[in-house]
This record gives sequence, C-alpha cells and structure tokens, in this order.
Amino acid sequence: ESVIMNGELRNRDQCLISFEDRGYQFGDGVYEVIRVYGGRPFLMEEHLHRFKRSADELKIRLAWDEQELALMFNELVAVNEVMDGKIYVQLTRGAAKRDHLFPGQAEPVLIAYTDPASRPLDKMNKGIRVMTVDDIRWLRVDIKSLNLLPNVLVRQQAHDAGADDAIFVRNGIVTEGSSSNVFGVKDGICYTHPAGNLILNGITRQKLLQLAEAHGIACVEQAFTRDQLLEMDEVFISGTISEVTPVIAVDGQPIGNGKPGAITAKFQEALAEAVRSACPS
Ligand code: PLP
Repeated sequence: ESVIMNGELRNRDQCLISFEDRGYQFGDGVYEVIRVYGGRPFLMEEHLHRFKRSADELKIRLAWDEQELALMFNELVAVNEVMDGKIYVQLTRGAAKRDHLFPGQAEPVLIAYTDPASRPLDKMNKGIRVMTVDDIRWLRVDIKSLNLLPNVLVRQQAHDAGADDAIFVRNGIVTEGSSSNVFGVKDGICYTHPAGNLILNGITRQKLLQLAEAHGIACVEQAFTRDQLLEMDEVFISGTISEVTPVIAVDGQPIGNGKPGAITAKFQEALAEAVRSACPS
C-alpha cells in the first residue's frame, strides 16, 4: 500500500515524520477527508478548495495547486486500488526546533493515504441517538485544523453515556456535530446553522443545500436553539463519512415519532443519486 509524502509515492512503512513536526507538537496543520465511491473521489475539487483555504488561513504554504493535488490523489486511489474508501490528506508547517513563532525555513509536510470505508447503512436506516454538549471549541472552527481535542473528548463523553454522537451547543444555539453538520426540519422547512466562524462549512452540507434547491425542499441557513432542536419533526447530521444520518433521539428524548423522517430520506436519496452520477461504478 502506498502513501504520498511531499508529492512522492512511497511505501506506507517508509513514511516517517519527525518528532519535531509542528503538527505533532502544536497541532499546527490542516487536513481533509475525501470519500471514494466505486474507485472515484466524490466532490474532490470542493474538498481541495477548502483544504487550500484552511492552509491559507494558517499561512502554511501549499506547494501544489488544486489541480496537481487532484492528479496526485487520483493516482494514489488507482495504485492502492481503492474502491470504497477515503483519502486522508494532512499538511503541517513542518519540523523545526520547538518555538511558537513560525519557523524561518521549515518545509511544510504533506501526507496523503487511503483507507477502506463503507457507507454507514445501518445507522442511516435506523438513526442515531445523540447528546448535546457545551461547544468549548475556539472561534475559528471554519478552519479544518488538526486541533480536534474537544471533538475527541465529546465523542468519548457521548459514547460513555451510551449515545452515538455529540452535538455542540454554544450559548444555547446548536452549532454542529462532533464530526458533522446538523439539520432540523420543522413544518416542512429545513434549518441549519449559517456558515461562518462557528461551524465547519461541510462539503456535504453545501451539497445538501444545492440538492434541496434542485428538489424543491425549503431549506434555510438559520440557527436554532437546543430547545428548538428537541421540538423538530426531524433531525439529521451530514458529513463525508456519515452522509445523511437521521437523529432519532436527543438527550434521551425522541425526535418526532422517534423514527427517521421523510425529508431526511429524501436527502439521503438525493445524495445517493448525486454519488451515482458523479461516481458511476
Ligand atoms: N463539522 C465538523 C466538526 C467535521 O469534523 C466535519 C467533517 O466531517 C463536518 C462538519 C462535515 O464536513 P464534510 O461534509 O465536509 O465532511
């Protein structure tokens, strides 16, 4: 199995990173996860565009343009013979003597590797139970940075409490999931937190907003409170790996009739159709 390190294909076991890499010491880096269906990356341009933006926001130099990256990752998928999987891509500011200041001459380190992935069909059919947690993250979560400590802690907290996932709430307002965006449906209208510095603008989220328009589903980027979340007719999360997963209970209280809803199913089908047309197998 191959990985890409700084533009070169290598064996997985020949990809060694310095212990002085700033990604390791400071979380000084950014990443992306791109889904591969039937051997083809889905929405890769959109992911690479966000990757470039994340790097720019942290002032980390990305030595390849989006087109070069796309070629590289297509090659990686081909040599690894990935059919259903994901590409993990990470860029750090590189290795240097430990100092908070940006290093003068460190070379940024770009890594990409693939892993198998399958659709979470069981959860997509049955739905998940979530718990709400305080959104203790910094105020620039629009940058897909390596600093996932709050996300890790709340996911474990949810797991330990017997829930499938955690949903962040900031000042009473639902922001997003631990690795997903959150949508609620009330009286036929779909709501999701507006893009900005308080959520990661999910590639799946953006695709669903487009699909809503194309399929005549009313959808607005309007924030809602935790109390309003509990009163929704339907709730679902969206993400590259979770696709569209229904939420059937929040903090032990059923959403709607406690079963995945019809508009959620419409979004699932619309996304599956978009995947089929972009990634024919
Ligand atoms: N929000 C957070 C915090 C995430 O980690 C993710 C990643 O999956 C998302 C939202 C969803 O983004 P995307 O649809 O681009 O995967």
